[in-house]
Amino acid sequence: MNTDVKPAVLLPAFAATDDRPVTLGVLGGGQLGLMFVHAAQRMGYRTAVLDPDPTSPAGLVSHHHLLADYDDAQALASMARLCDAVTTEFENVPAESLRVLSQRNPVSPAAEAVAVAQDRLVEKAHFQTSAAQSAGATAVGPVPYAPLREAVDLEAVDASLFPAILKTARMGYDGKGQVQVASRDALAAAWADLNHVTCVVEKRLDLVAECSVVVARGRDGVCVHLPLQVNTHVGGILARTEVFPGNLDADLSARAIQAAEAIAETLRYVGVLCVEFFVVKQGDGTLGLVVNEMAPRPHNSGHYSIEACDLSQFDLQVRTMTGLPLSEPRLHSAAVMLNLLGDIWLNTGELRTPAWDHVLALPGTHLHLYGKLEARVGRKMGHLTITASTIESARQVAEEAQAILGIWH
Ligand code: ADP
Ligand code: MG
Repeated sequence: MNTDVKPAVLLPAFAATDDRPVTLGVLGGGQLGLMFVHAAQRMGYRTAVLDPDPTSPAGLVSHHHLLADYDDAQALASMARLCDAVTTEFENVPAESLRVLSQRNPVSPAAEAVAVAQDRLVEKAHFQTSAAQSAGATAVGPVPYAPLREAVDLEAVDASLFPAILKTARMGYDGKGQVQVASRDALAAAWADLNHVTCVVEKRLDLVAECSVVVARGRDGVCVHLPLQVNTHVGGILARTEVFPGNLDADLSARAIQAAEAIAETLRYVGVLCVEFFVVKQGDGTLGLVVNEMAPRPHNSGHYSIEACDLSQFDLQVRTMTGLPLSEPRLHSAAVMLNLLGDIWLNTGELRTPAWDHVLALPGTHLHLYGKLEARVGRKMGHLTITASTIESARQVAEEAQAILGIWH
């Protein structure tokens, strides 16, 4: 965004200049776009979605749906005309498209910040910079790694990184583009299978736990955060998130929040950002934190905030892009969020509608189905948030819901 332009706050009303409603645009029409559109519309904004899929979940409910690719010059020009501010719901949108839009509109997050999150090597370098600028002993750095750009890099990978995980530098999500490699030979073979695209080799850590922090940073530099999420992944895909006071050791939790805010700060980030962390056992037996990756957008692990917090991550996205004030979200219920993958439509061997009526008979259950037309194994079709006054009750309900749905983890 051109930093000389200080756009006025976009109040959810009619734009003073041309007497048309303020319209907020989002690149991408998936479930994150859908929940953004819901939050924006609830506050009285018009919405516009750019997504080439005519059945995209957000496109179907938005006031405007531009059916075109993310780098389509004409569609970007229409988007710029139609919208008063633009955001994105996925990090693999071409950074150039965000740059083009920023000539006419406030765009958050900025193209430069999204570009950092698009490349694991650039991202890790940023984590290192951010850690170096933070207070010494409590700084949280990235997982030990080595870059893999050309053949000579293979030999330079330190032996201490094995067993390792090979990850493509770009375009990975939900564990895709990742291969476990036990040795240098296995690494060479796996890299060849990936056609020698630029990769990162990460030490495979013994994870005690995984957690994430969603922060929102406004144009004025004010930063707020959701309470820390503790996450369980199955097969590289988020399966479950738990949020309640004391879900992680207080000191570790405070450090993760501090690190996430520092990462946003050093990027001069505007928008919602999620940072994922690993909790690991250190040499001296105490628990430590390392940064895994970040997402320049609301995050699957933050969905619980819709029902369990007084401000959700999507409300925060609307506020950051319009310049509205941010206040610290407050958790008012303990929450368990279960992802609903396509598997549960298919796990009896034939396509069948899960017994939502039985699930919704349980107290504190909030069902989100994204309206995707086809259930596939591993595809995120929806999520279920369970709120309760204590985590024990939320877990009990989660267990019952899992039994109904056939979710075994
Ligand atoms: P994605 O972009 O697909 O989310 P991640 O790098 O977050 O990729 O990896 C997905 C999951 O795989 C993580 O949440 C974690 O469970 C596991 N994982 C990734 N990297 C490591 C690692 N270095 N050591 C141990 N487990 C890892
Ligand atoms: Mg991840």
